[in-house]
Amino acid sequence: MRSIKEMQQIVRNLKHDRQTIGFVPTMGALHSGHLSLIKEAGKENNFIIVSIFVNPAQFGPGEDFKQYPRNLSDDILRCRDMGVDFIFSPAVGQVYPDGYKTYVVVDGLTKGLCGRLRPGHFKGVATIVVKLFNIILPDIAYFGQKDAQQAVIIRRMVRDLNMPVKVKVMPIVRESDGLAMSSRNRYLTDKGRKDAVVLFEALKEAKKMIARGVNDSAKIIRAMREIINKKKTIKVQYIEIVDLDRLNPVKTIRGKALLALAVYAGKTRLIDNIVVRGE
Ligand code: AMP
Repeated sequence: MRSIKEMQQIVRNLKHDRQTIGFVPTMGALHSGHLSLIKEAGKENNFIIVSIFVNPAQFGPGEDFKQYPRNLSDDILRCRDMGVDFIFSPAVGQVYPDGYKTYVVVDGLTKGLCGRLRPGHFKGVATIVVKLFNIILPDIAYFGQKDAQQAVIIRRMVRDLNMPVKVKVMPIVRESDGLAMSSRNRYLTDKGRKDAVVLFEALKEAKKMIARGVNDSAKIIRAMREIINKKKTIKVQYIEIVDLDRLNPVKTIRGKALLALAVYAGKTRLIDNIVVRGE
């Protein structure tokens, strides 16, 4: 579906027939991470709707909006294999017509981690998610833990704005060597791709340290930096340990915490994270 109006008409018909809608918002270039969300949506709903929309509002100046991989014909085949009922892929001009003025800002949670380095990114994300929810009216919407900060922000927004949708967050799907799947992985050079496994290695080392009883965040972050810095192609943007509700940095890990990182592998920005549990 290209047209917002037609998509809304279909949704109205589904609602009239008391069908449940599972919704998976994506920017396309689908991989097994996306497919895991689609699969879950199929288990829990009568209809699956996937949106494929590269959202200009969430890209900053100098970011990769123009180069972002777009491959709708492959995506359509994948969706067909997965039993997706509708793909919603509107044009930018329909989503943000001339005169567009309304944005959604989730305070506080968007200040740290990726938000600090990508100002405006989460405003763009929150805005498109609200718009898509208003068009698709999903019963359940599926997101990936890969974008951990995004998941926390969406949950907060849905609660704060009393949106009648259940948000479900699915685990990170990884390549066999541990690299988190991402549409951006295809930008990586062969060397960058090989070196990128250090992200998961650093996360695993952190997990081991915590299992051994280390709970000093600074110490863990230092050890992770050392591992990642061994690869000259990879530059750490941030490594942070934060609490899971407010995303505030924690000095000492007690209970569950989010260990999140962002790096540049050459020109490609990669993120990854794990949830850890300290004593
Ligand atoms: P994107 O197309 O990158 O905007 O991602 C669409 C959705 O898929 C988001 O909710 C992501 O968190 C999720 N996603 C992306 N990569 C993965 C992955 N490797 N594992 C699980 N979910 C993912």
